[in-house]
Amino acid sequence: MKKSIDKSLEIKKVKPTAMRQLVLDILSKQDHAIGLPELEMQFAQADRTTLYRTLKTFVDKKVIHSIDDGTGTIKYAVCTDTCHCNPSELHVHFYCIKCGKTTCLTDIPIPDIQLPENYFAENINMVVKGLCDRCNRG
Ligand SMILES: [Zn+2]
Ligand SMILES: [Zn+2]
Repeated sequence: MKKSIDKSLEIKKVKPTAMRQLVLDILSKQDHAIGLPELEMQFAQADRTTLYRTLKTFVDKKVIHSIDDGTGTIKYAVCTDTCHCNPSELHVHFYCIKCGKTTCLTDIPIPDIQLPENYFAENINMVVKGLCDRCNRG
């Protein structure tokens, strides 16, 4: 477990500090994307600034990606080791209006969007809202 965490950090050229290992370990165990408040709850003595800085480093180094699901809280999810977060690699996210969970639909790429001439896409954020499979079944 710890080995793969270190490996992921190494691949993305992030120096493995104890804090980074811990945060990535927590993030990789989630079945949905979590925000800073939710991450903070996993720490007995949470230092919000340190956590935020760790998340920011991870986003910059493409260890994780951020998702603006429209709730006002930015969520974070782990990227694959080969991900560079280019627009062509991005996937659709799903926000469940019942359980409030935001999930990566990694198998569904964002469709190629034809922008007008001289427009350059740096990031695309596509969030589908509705009921997730768990909530839709119940
Ligand atoms: Zn749900
Ligand atoms: Zn995602």
